[in-house]
Amino acid sequence: MSMNKPMPAYTEISRPFWSALKEGKIVIPHCTACGHWIFYPRRHCNRCFSHAVEWREVSGAGQVYSYTIARIPTLPDFADEMPQKLAVVELDEGVRINTTLVGLAEDEIRVGMRVKPVFDTVRKDGTTLLRFTAADKDMATRIDSSPEAAVAASEACTTLARPRRQVRFDDEAAMKALVSDEYSEWSSQVLVDQALIDEFVKLSGDDYWIHTDPDRAAKQSPFGGTIAHGALVQILQSRLRMPLGFEVVGFNNMVNYGSDRLRFPAPVPAGSRIHARARVKAVERLAKGMQLTLEVTTHVVGNERPSVINELVILYM
Ligand SMILES: [Zn+2]
Repeated sequence: MSMNKPMPAYTEISRPFWSALKEGKIVIPHCTACGHWIFYPRRHCNRCFSHAVEWREVSGAGQVYSYTIARIPTLPDFADEMPQKLAVVELDEGVRINTTLVGLAEDEIRVGMRVKPVFDTVRKDGTTLLRFTAADKDMATRIDSSPEAAVAASEACTTLARPRRQVRFDDEAAMKALVSDEYSEWSSQVLVDQALIDEFVKLSGDDYWIHTDPDRAAKQSPFGGTIAHGALVQILQSRLRMPLGFEVVGFNNMVNYGSDRLRFPAPVPAGSRIHARARVKAVERLAKGMQLTLEVTTHVVGNERPSVINELVILYM
């Protein structure tokens, strides 16, 4: 279960198509002998078999030929973009392209609806996929759904900036009122890539191959690639900004007392984005101060099953 989505594998024949997408253009092979447009890219015309084929730019205007809504990820790697709106779009030139529809609610999609292209940068190296949206949709022609952009967008999320209710640490009734079965909203996100895992290998000395060796892990690991150390994912909680909705104030000292329970139920494959949510599980007045147990669950974005369950014990004095 690698969290690295399959990327286009360029061939000598298809490279111009992918290169043009990076520049926000669509080029399609065109037969100069008979005028036929050809897709997928081939060396010869699939109507008259001529080799007189040249790349020509097209507008990308077309219509939905067919579509389906995938509610179960077609690969685990796509769990963060559910439901997927998979479609076949027919360009006005007559060629049909497998694609994903974006910026549309499910009930807005119709067979035959007019569409226009959206160029989606999916990797920091500029790799771009061709998506489509409704022709009359007010949407940017270029979007960025790379993991780095998703992390930045989560940081900019407005719920994180919302003013927080202040609760005095020694107000027992108010503190106990924080106890809830409901989790907070999701935190901001962090990208757990191989570079970050390698840093943790240096810091911790834990250099087991399942964390450090992508080639060996691809062959021998049950997860299809390297995974992050449970301890790394646990400490990354400090980097996640959590919209708890309250802030404990008035104390002189706050002590991290450790954890009542710490479990790593699911792996975090290299390349995953993680986020967390939390709830106050218990509040207890002790002789030395007020003790709060905060249950934090960290998940790979899109995964129901948490990667870390941590019941943090915090003592306010
Ligand atoms: Zn032809």
